[in-house]
Amino acid sequence: MKPPEKISCVDCGGECHLISYLSDEEPLEPGTVLSYRCSDCNDRWDLVWEPDQE
Ligand SMILES: [Zn+2]
Repeated sequence: MKPPEKISCVDCGGECHLISYLSDEEPLEPGTVLSYRCSDCNDRWDLVWEPDQE
């Protein structure tokens, strides 16, 4: 399971792009903080990666 490359900005509805470096070789650990930067309002959003485990 991979994190989204883009998310919607909560403030302006624009696109936030993932700016965290992700390794292709290592799986993303739950609890990893992913940083996104909005291309419209330039806000930064930090998201904790918590994939749904079922
Ligand atoms: Zn924004």
